[in-house]
Amino acid sequence: MIDSASLGDWKITALRDAKFALDGGAMFGVVPRAIWEKMTPVNEDHTIPLATRPFLFEKGDAVILVEPGIGRRWSEKAKAMFHFDYADGHDVLESLAHVGRQPEEVTHVLMSHGHWDHIGALCDEQGVPNFPNAQHWMAESEKEAALHADHLRRASYRAEDLQPVMDAGLLHTFQGEVTILPGLRIVELGGHSDGVSLILLEEAGETACFWSDVVPTGNHVHRPFIMAYDMNAEKSYAVRGPWVERAIKENWLCLLYHDAEDAFGRFFMDGRRPGFQPEIAQKTS
Ligand SMILES: [Zn+2]
Repeated sequence: MIDSASLGDWKITALRDAKFALDGGAMFGVVPRAIWEKMTPVNEDHTIPLATRPFLFEKGDAVILVEPGIGRRWSEKAKAMFHFDYADGHDVLESLAHVGRQPEEVTHVLMSHGHWDHIGALCDEQGVPNFPNAQHWMAESEKEAALHADHLRRASYRAEDLQPVMDAGLLHTFQGEVTILPGLRIVELGGHSDGVSLILLEEAGETACFWSDVVPTGNHVHRPFIMAYDMNAEKSYAVRGPWVERAIKENWLCLLYHDAEDAFGRFFMDGRRPGFQPEIAQKTS
């Protein structure tokens, strides 16, 4: 089952790409295992199950893919190491087909940042862009990081994910903030990566927010729960606080990329700390 929500005239659908797993300690940063292991299942090799979950925003002629997904362009070694699992329709192209869309119909591909688990699905296994008619958008700083990754960034980026899209003339970049369509914008934050961005949809007095790795799962809303993967933890801590506060105050619909269970939910104050309330009716199976 694929879940959807509406925001004014927009339809928001939670798609699915491969399930995978990352080290639990790295996902929770300074949070002790004694605390995080009560929040999530833990595999034998200390990894925890995670989703890669693109979203589709549709209204009129606009068919907007929010995050391409992890994709299939991976070695068998990588697939085994990270427990890639494409079973039961966990593939972005299959998932699109399930909602009656062909990759050629996608008008925009919006990317929060360039990490491999977010944009691996830009191209097929032969390196051909999967969404040939779409304007592709990402922060300029992320393009730079992907194409010229230094030693510290090298494990998180693959230039070959982006290069074919650039060669096809499909990539557009921005600095700070860009409005894609009325009510739809990408806002660069940084912290987790140089230019990690939120993708915000505002219509009819309501807001939906794709949190990407700024809040990767419902267990990461509390401010100190910052991944060890974050390039600049101090900046992460500083930049995400006001956005989470605003999401609580204005009761935003929150879209989560990595949460193994829940695609949609709302942030709320759980006593003195922020928490996550899944939208039960829209729980991803
Ligand atoms: Zn990331």
